[in-house]
Amino acid sequence: PGDPELEALQHADVAALLPVPGAESDKYRRGVVGIAAGSARYPGAAVLAVAGALRGGAGAVRYAGPAGDAVIARFPETLVSSGSPDQAGRVQAWVVGPGAGDDADAVTAVLNADVPVLVDADGLRLADRDLVRARRAPTLLTPHAGEAAALLGVSREEVEGARLTSVRKLAERYGATVLLKGSTTLIASPGDGPVRVNPTGTGWLATAGSGDVLSGLTGSLLAAGLDALDAGSVGAYLHGLAGRLAADGAPVGAHDVAEAVRDAWRDVM
Ligand code: AMP
Ligand code: MG
Repeated sequence: PGDPELEALQHADVAALLPVPGAESDKYRRGVVGIAAGSARYPGAAVLAVAGALRGGAGAVRYAGPAGDAVIARFPETLVSSGSPDQAGRVQAWVVGPGAGDDADAVTAVLNADVPVLVDADGLRLADRDLVRARRAPTLLTPHAGEAAALLGVSREEVEGARLTSVRKLAERYGATVLLKGSTTLIASPGDGPVRVNPTGTGWLATAGSGDVLSGLTGSLLAAGLDALDAGSVGAYLHGLAGRLAADGAPVGAHDVAEAVRDAWRDVM
């Protein structure tokens, strides 16, 4: 507050950025988002990322990976395929990493695609930094403090003690927009522009799978055409609000948060 380096996200700014379809819209114009997430061990991460993506405003969600059966059982509107993301058909943005285990090939395939990419969770560990730096389309990295620490080669405590410096450092090193998750989420692009601060979060969001929902939701906003800084900002804002509305003073699971993204959206509009 008062710090010129920081810019708190405001309800009205987020409202103006929501991708609302017009009369002329169709599903391709709304955007197709690809989700490359989940594994035999963590199929739920795929389901939760798709759950977030369906509530984020894209016109269609493609899923590429080994958890297609779990995804389709819960969300029959998903376009599923089991091969590499580069065989999945056209998308306007990719999300890669949640619950992905050690599938480095999927991460590399997505980073080689000339569309906006969001990298989260296991994807952060598997992403080659030079490949990220060489990308021309926008890239958004979404680490929590532990993942940010691993990328920077420091301890989690060091990141927690210097969150603003850490998010800026990561953005410079990767030449990418970085969303550092936590009780107040920070979003920074390379350069010395202000860092966005999301105030809507709640401790109820500290629950398994919560970040997977955020990644799908935010990826959908990228597919709808928001730039990486705006997509990260709107995604974090809606996700935090959804957490509050879903919890309403009692514990929730990540799937409850995904459903409440719709309530958050109405609240913002
Ligand atoms: P992950 O650690 O990847 O599951 O992501 C957790 C999500 O929950 C992120 O969006 C965090 O910003 C959010 N979160 C976790 N703990 C808190 C907290 N204490 N207050 C607000 N948001 C939180
Ligand atoms: Mg996570």
